[in-house]
Amino acid sequence: MAGFDLKGKRIWVAGDRGMVGSAVVRRLATESCEIVTAVRGRVDLRRQDSVERFIADEKPDAIVVAAAKVGGILANDTRPAEFLYDNLMIEANIIHAAHQNDVNRLVFLGSSCIYPKFAPQPMTEDALLTGPLESTNEWYAIAKIAGIKLCQAYRKQYGRDYVSAMPTNLYGPNDNFDLQSSHVLPALMVKIHDAHASGAPTVPVWGTGTPRREFLHVDDCADGIVFIMKSYSGAEHLNLGTGVDVSIRELAESIARTVGYRGEFVFDTSKPDGTPRKLMNVDRMKALGWQARIPLDDGIRTTYQWFLENRRALRGVA
Ligand code: GDP
Repeated sequence: MAGFDLKGKRIWVAGDRGMVGSAVVRRLATESCEIVTAVRGRVDLRRQDSVERFIADEKPDAIVVAAAKVGGILANDTRPAEFLYDNLMIEANIIHAAHQNDVNRLVFLGSSCIYPKFAPQPMTEDALLTGPLESTNEWYAIAKIAGIKLCQAYRKQYGRDYVSAMPTNLYGPNDNFDLQSSHVLPALMVKIHDAHASGAPTVPVWGTGTPRREFLHVDDCADGIVFIMKSYSGAEHLNLGTGVDVSIRELAESIARTVGYRGEFVFDTSKPDGTPRKLMNVDRMKALGWQARIPLDDGIRTTYQWFLENRRALRGVA
């Protein structure tokens, strides 16, 4: 194992204002490293010259690529060009500029949707590119697969120590709570909160409620990313998850318990279910010595608390 000592290192967290990037910044603040972030508006990650200038000026020792165009099933399905182009540009610009500026350590973040729609569950890392993707998020998935391959290519051709981690569905503080573009957990939190507040007898849930998803709290994710940065060196990407999944109906019930809502769920089957099941096999991370710590119910409770404290400032939330 390579071992990368963070002490005194300058680490650029690309995407530091997002849910994952901000959690990585919080986590890195407990290490004796220097965190580099870009002042809002200074870098356009989709523009090569902008990224090259930033990296040349800042000279980080390592980079976490937590910047991405992300969104839930509807956003992915209806804005394919943005999800493909933006993500390809962001990762290609950062990885190439890192190499050009002799940054030898980089952790690239993808997603569990890189795996085939019908990959055997739980999904192991070697399920990558063994079958067709889920059509609702294939644009995002193709971009993220290209990112893994970029890391492998720069490792193979130039010996760069660039690694990839694939987090499962994430949730937590700074999530996107806008119903049109969010993922299921924050969306149901908003809907159930609103139904509870207004006394509505039912809450609409998209799809059949039977798809199964795994949810990782973003603080666990950030801890896993820092663990990987410190201790993993290899061409193969690593799954970052809990190894446990729930149905969408069970998720809705958990959130309702936290909110105190006692109404019914109405399943809107005109909306897509997406992949029937998305559960990570997390044996490789466990074997390296890391596992998630925050149980889903605890994570939902603290995230709901965060939502209550911050909801006035959130985009798309009344
Ligand atoms: P996915 O994991 O890429 O499919 O993305 P999502 O988190 O957006 O959706 C996960 C599952 O939750 C899908 O089966 C959705 O149809 C279902 N779902 C139920 N209600 C909602 C909702 O209000 N918003 C979203 N985004 N998904 C929902």
